[in-house]
Amino acid sequence: MSADVLVQLGTKGADAVCALTRAELEKSIQKHGKTAAAAFPGTNFYLPLALALLNKEVKTLEDCRAVLEQAEGLNKNKPAANGMTISALGGVLNKGVATLLCEEILAVLHVMDKKHPQDGFAGFLPDSLLRSLGLQLVDGRIAGVAVILGPAKDEDAAVKMIQDFQVNSIVSILVGNVKGLTLKKQLENKGVELGLENYIVPLGEDYLSAIYAVNWAVRAPLIYGGFKPGQWEGIADYVRHRVPAFVVLLSHVDEILVATGLGTLAFGLPIITDLEVPQLPKIDTTLFEALVTEKDYAKIVSQCILTRGIKVKRTQVAIPVSYAAAFEGERVRKENLYAEFGGKGGTSFEFLTSAAINEIEDGKVSVIGQDVDKLTDGKKSMPLAIIVKVAGRKMQKDFEPILERQIHRFVNYAQGIMHIGQRDINWIRISKEAFEKGFRLKHIGVLLHAMLHSEFSAIVDKIQVEIYTKKEDVEKLQAKALKVYDERDERLSGMSDESVDTYYSCTLCQSFAPNHVCIITPERLGLCGAYSWLDGKAAFEINPTGPNQPLAKGKTLDARLGQWDKINQFVYDTSNKTIDKVSMYSLMDAPQSSCGCFECILAVVPEANGVMIVNRDFVGMTPSGMTFTTLAGSVGGGVQTPGFLGIGKLYVASKKFILAEGGLKRLVWMPRELKEVLADKLKKRAQELGSPDLIDKIADETNATTAEELVAYLQKVRHPALEMEPLV
Ligand code: SF4
Repeated sequence: MSADVLVQLGTKGADAVCALTRAELEKSIQKHGKTAAAAFPGTNFYLPLALALLNKEVKTLEDCRAVLEQAEGLNKNKPAANGMTISALGGVLNKGVATLLCEEILAVLHVMDKKHPQDGFAGFLPDSLLRSLGLQLVDGRIAGVAVILGPAKDEDAAVKMIQDFQVNSIVSILVGNVKGLTLKKQLENKGVELGLENYIVPLGEDYLSAIYAVNWAVRAPLIYGGFKPGQWEGIADYVRHRVPAFVVLLSHVDEILVATGLGTLAFGLPIITDLEVPQLPKIDTTLFEALVTEKDYAKIVSQCILTRGIKVKRTQVAIPVSYAAAFEGERVRKENLYAEFGGKGGTSFEFLTSAAINEIEDGKVSVIGQDVDKLTDGKKSMPLAIIVKVAGRKMQKDFEPILERQIHRFVNYAQGIMHIGQRDINWIRISKEAFEKGFRLKHIGVLLHAMLHSEFSAIVDKIQVEIYTKKEDVEKLQAKALKVYDERDERLSGMSDESVDTYYSCTLCQSFAPNHVCIITPERLGLCGAYSWLDGKAAFEINPTGPNQPLAKGKTLDARLGQWDKINQFVYDTSNKTIDKVSMYSLMDAPQSSCGCFECILAVVPEANGVMIVNRDFVGMTPSGMTFTTLAGSVGGGVQTPGFLGIGKLYVASKKFILAEGGLKRLVWMPRELKEVLADKLKKRAQELGSPDLIDKIADETNATTAEELVAYLQKVRHPALEMEPLV
């Protein structure tokens, strides 16, 4: 087969898909009427690909027809209405893009007819998923995304390939079948647990579902990159450089798959296959090779990493089970349980403390008491204390809770080990498989030693781990740890923005939102909720040239708004000169920009003279007339949007919470679940404000989901926001 054959096949495939879409769409219009709604669930981006490339907001079947006409034009190499045309590979990629646009229409028709999502498959991926994965992509926990089309040559090869992707922190998206056989089935037959928490997401058993991976990828430049719909060149360039995805084509190819593949190449997503096909070297739209064959399943994953140019961070940890971020969300269920600690299984806690450099021995791991292999008589639980002692010239007391918090992540990375919670509410489970492979309690010490060295070598030089399992030891040590936890909480709650001269920046999200910068103060954490001021401080010590830099505040320009001259200058310089000032305490006047991975959105409700907050997990309607997903369309992309703000949820309970607009007394609505999560903190803050019943006066979805209902409720409970000076 020569490359010309690919062009011929792709042409035939694109023609076939265009014709099929025309026929299916007209059939659907006859059935439902041209004004029938055509929409995917959980997105603010209509048909995302049509929106991103053509700036077409598809809401009805008639709108689909308008997109189809442009796709048909592109298929004949006629530029789209906004001039979009891709010249690489002699224009044949236009046929690929036309195919993808058609496939998006076919997919929405499938959604309308309830053929998608298919049973046991995810189907269309909502915006919230992209947002929740944002931080994992920027901090490298997800190194890449493999869109795998078709089943593997056999079940063992399937498991090997997927596990190789997992240990390299690459998410596998599964699509398609050959004669009814899917990769999903192959993995399930071998007992592999699927789900995003295991880095394996089955989208659909038909090949059409591959479009959901593409229309997921093109939302990244719209959400994070600040691109506007229709800026097709910038959007394709963003995907090429910042969305580390690629296609793995297994076991089967036909003309439609070739046409679809040409579409993915237009976005720079290369194809790696186990099939005998013509090879395509680098083309204008890809960073490296465009199409590569690798028949040896043991080498496919490394070939993918090479071809897409993915940077994989791997740490060698000497334990008898696989170890990678991909196993972080894995559960150990009861039927698979070998041993557990904490939860209903008794006392368990973890504690990290600093020690003098000559007090501890690096790498020493001691298990004091019985290890899990001594569990007898059907017993599955035992007490546990994990005591980690660290020493280092740059180690500070302030860093202890930050390092201690990593225990959760580090233990979870071990395959077959589950860790939930922290401090004295942790809950650890060891699976039967992990035990059979030789995992013992000492390996918790081994992995903590390796990972703390790997990620925190700038502040720790020595790490020693002691693991206790005798009840009396655990209880005695726990009493001491509880005292220290309390002291730490006291110290942290005593910190204020005024008590420090230095704030920290975070530009981690610039790999996705190039103009966004978070300023982190003791009383306002990063909008993703993952970075507090202390995290920023520790991160700077660990990596002095990294994304967290200390910032001297400089002269106070406005204490009420929270503006300082040096902070403004820094934001201006690091936002590529797009933001000249930022108010840390205001929603209305120069608020901080948002990147897209915010935990919550704050929005003005003018009718109520107040503000509402909604968290990412809340799917219902809010009194602003918008759901979280719709509201999120107004915030993000690294721009300032007065009246809308992405925030970390803990900021609500801060003394500096929208100080310029009157603080917590402005808050008129929040989802009930969020209120419950923050209850203690909010009550404390309400007490401080001299308004102990304030929290009960804040409405939730059980009292109001429209502005009218909200105002009626606020009047009934006499909410203070109604008496405050006008917000707008
Ligand atoms: S603190 Fe801000 S920039 Fe940093 S990771 Fe979180 S959202 Fe991104």
